Amino acid sequence: MFKRTAWILVATVVGLLALSARADYQPRAEKVADNVYAIVGPLGQRSADNDGLNANFGFVVTSTGVILIDSGASLLGAKKIEAAIARVTKQPVRWVVNTGSQDHRWLGNDYFAGKGAEVIAMSRTAATQAEYAAQHMEGMTRFLGKRVQGTKPLPAPKTLAGESATLERGGETLELTYTDTHFPGDAWVWLPKNGVMFSGDLVYVDRLLGVLPWSSVKNGQQAFKALAALKPARIVPGHGRVCDLAQAQRETGNYYDFLADKVGAAAREMEPLSATLDRYADLPAFRHLDNYEGLHRGNMSRAFTQFESQ
Ligand SMILES: [Zn+2]
Repeated sequence: MFKRTAWILVATVVGLLALSARADYQPRAEKVADNVYAIVGPLGQRSADNDGLNANFGFVVTSTGVILIDSGASLLGAKKIEAAIARVTKQPVRWVVNTGSQDHRWLGNDYFAGKGAEVIAMSRTAATQAEYAAQHMEGMTRFLGKRVQGTKPLPAPKTLAGESATLERGGETLELTYTDTHFPGDAWVWLPKNGVMFSGDLVYVDRLLGVLPWSSVKNGQQAFKALAALKPARIVPGHGRVCDLAQAQRETGNYYDFLADKVGAAAREMEPLSATLDRYADLPAFRHLDNYEGLHRGNMSRAFTQFESQ
């Protein structure tokens, strides 16, 4: 009899676990350096389950409030990020810094601004946010369904001029520099005191980076070299786990070098596109990365087009 009850109990627990696995994705903060945290999102696509948080976010806890780096893809996504921060500190989010204009970097801005946070970005980042707002809201509605309700696109109201800018908030220093790679106006956030780099969508690890029609391979190659020159101790990539420079070099820097040097050269020499795509279809250095099958050929094709016209 006891045995049977025990089995029912086990079955119930297993059932509950299965249910919770299907329930909402909840982001978790992990410590990167003193007072610096990363939230590493899933590598797959945006979904109602993950509220579009399929990217990385981060925050710095100061004595007067939290500096959040990137605000999530929706109102509900922003609330999930806020809950993850609340498990680490009682300090409220007083500042939001956006590294880019892709949906999950900024569609949570309005939520935090509504709670009194100052929302900050480089000026071209904010301009691109405004430009892509309607398109990204449309995409998010497709991915998230009714969970997108209440989300209002708010391009960063506080903008920073220049090619790079230093931001002092809560006694912390953040240096923003354009990378202009995945989206025009993308920037990184560098914490010189801790040697932590929030690369935005410049660095991808664990999964292959994506070259979109508006991405720039040439800028990616240059920006990665500039990032490497800073010798960051830790990198919070745009997607994938927190990593060191060596891994970022292998999985992003070397891929940009490949696209620019090999595919770019083929384009400049006016080789047929299909011959180039076939020759480099299988690259052992990168084929272990998630999304390789789905993205590699298209990435090469877009890189080819970019270098053909130069
Ligand atoms: Zn992204």
